Amino acid sequence: MIIAFALVTCQHVHLGYCACEAALFRGKLGDWVAKTREVHVIDDLTGGCLCGAVRYRCSGEPDSMGLCQCERCQRQSGSSFLIAIVYSRESVTFESGELGVYTAADDSGSNLSRHFCLSCGSAVMITLDRYPEIRSMMGGTVDDKSRIRPTFSLWCSSAQPWLELPRDIQQFPDYPDGLIA
Ligand SMILES: [Zn+2]
Ligand SMILES: [Zn+2]
Repeated sequence: MIIAFALVTCQHVHLGYCACEAALFRGKLGDWVAKTREVHVIDDLTGGCLCGAVRYRCSGEPDSMGLCQCERCQRQSGSSFLIAIVYSRESVTFESGELGVYTAADDSGSNLSRHFCLSCGSAVMITLDRYPEIRSMMGGTVDDKSRIRPTFSLWCSSAQPWLELPRDIQQFPDYPDGLIA
C-alpha cells in the first residue's frame, strides 16, 4: 500500500519536474516519502547513553511526552528539567549495556527508580512502583531528537526562574491526579 503510493507520486513528480531538475525531484520525493512514513509507518525509537554501552529500542508510538521540573529531576539531570518519553513496558527492549538504579519515594510516597548507565552515569529511564506497566525513557538519550515533542510539564512550581516554556506545552504546578507520566 505504501510502496504503491510512493510509486504513483514518483511518476507524478517526475512528469512535473522532468530530468532538468533531478535534484529537486529527489528532494520533493524524499520529503513526500518521509511524510508518508510519518503518517503510515511508525519507526522504532532508538536511543542510548553517552558512552554507548546502553542501547535501547522502543516500538510504536509513545503514550506521552512530558517534562518534569521537580527539584529531584533537576538534580538528577544536572539541568532545568528532564524529558520523559513514556512507553508501555512491553514496548521497550534493552539491547546492550548494564543499568544501575537509584530508588527513592516520590511525593506520593511510592518508590520511583532512576536507571542510569553504570559506565557513564547517563540517566536512561525512570520506572514507578505505582505505574509498573510504563517506562519513561529520558529524552536526551533518544537518537532522533526531531521526534521529541513534549506536550506538558509537571512541577512548574519549582521551575528555574529564567525558564519560559512554549505556550503550547501544558503547564501543571505539580503532578496532577490521573496523569500517567
Ligand atoms: Zn554509558
Ligand atoms: Zn521530576
